Amino acid sequence: MKFNKKLENIKTYEAGKPIELVVREFGIEPKDIVKLASNENPYGCSTKVQKAVGNIVSNMALYPDDSMTKLKSALKSKYEVQDENIVIGSGSDQVIEFIMHAKADKNSKILINSVTFAMYEIYAKHVGAQIIKTQSQEHDLEEFYTLYKQENPEIIFLCTPNNPTGDALNAVDIVEFLQKIDSDTLVVIDGAYMEYAAYKDPAKKISPKELLEKFDNVIYLGTFSKAYGLGGMRVGYGISGSNIIKELYKLRPPFNITTLSLEAASVALEDEEFVNKSIELNFQEMKRYEEFAKANKIDIINSYTNFVTLLLNETQDSTKISDELLQKGMIVRNLRGYGLNAIRVTVGTKEQNNRFFELTTELLSN
Ligand SMILES: *Cc1c(COP(=O)(O)O)cnc(C)c1O
Repeated sequence: MKFNKKLENIKTYEAGKPIELVVREFGIEPKDIVKLASNENPYGCSTKVQKAVGNIVSNMALYPDDSMTKLKSALKSKYEVQDENIVIGSGSDQVIEFIMHAKADKNSKILINSVTFAMYEIYAKHVGAQIIKTQSQEHDLEEFYTLYKQENPEIIFLCTPNNPTGDALNAVDIVEFLQKIDSDTLVVIDGAYMEYAAYKDPAKKISPKELLEKFDNVIYLGTFSKAYGLGGMRVGYGISGSNIIKELYKLRPPFNITTLSLEAASVALEDEEFVNKSIELNFQEMKRYEEFAKANKIDIINSYTNFVTLLLNETQDSTKISDELLQKGMIVRNLRGYGLNAIRVTVGTKEQNNRFFELTTELLSN
């Protein structure tokens, strides 16, 4: 059977291996498996969320509230914006998909960082757009500007903090960059890890409200999958001017967020204490990764997120190490596919991290 030609050069997105797969493939008991591969919150989610979701599970016959009033009000007060400035997606992934279809087609160019979130490229390929990448591994706004001038892309993606490297841009530098960009180029600022960055260094904190007051060609993305601990609920959002949100709405399937997910995300925003506590623990534990790297003479990228990227040296092979870890029930992300001899490890709980240090020390000494 023939399929759409655009699919020919798309590689299926490889998600972090689920625990179930490791159970089946290696016969390891689920309790002995540690997954530090998808930057999920190792402390789970707020107990308030668990209770709230439990209270509504008996009522699932009706379609969800498609106006998403409760979640939108919660987001409105968090970001001090209006209803018309918000679009909610099944993960911010879905918002990226809307953006791509709204703005790009086969004649378009999409400018992204050389090493960044894989979905930008995959969605760009869905519409047949051409991908332009920087050379620099960390976001270099001067290089972005040079390429913007040369290539005149329809969309620019800035991922800050960046996945999978963990580095982050300063908010003032982003604003300065945006001032030089033509209003017909859409700039996407993906803040999937912004809660972590804002805690570590307030200079990294982006205000979507400020952006939408100053620019009519910028959209900010956030998610409940990382700091809020709701990866399984699939809720993300875009914040932008109504001119952009209005167009994205045309692409949104009805009822794209389930009743349970809407409730979970709304209540999650009421428990900032839980989120702050997880972030605090995250950076406490991250220090131990920095010490581990130092002790083992491995380079580590200064991270503003809930993961660390360990840049291995020539005598070590990220594919070999991540495979061997997997066989022992430790799931991390090999970054070979991004052209790096590196592994990305989500900062887990104290016990999970202990296990990582223990297993990796063993492997490195072989
Ligand atoms: C995890 C992640 C997302 C989206 O996650 P969803 O679960 O789809 O909300 C978006 N961008 C980056 C950089 C991410 O790491």
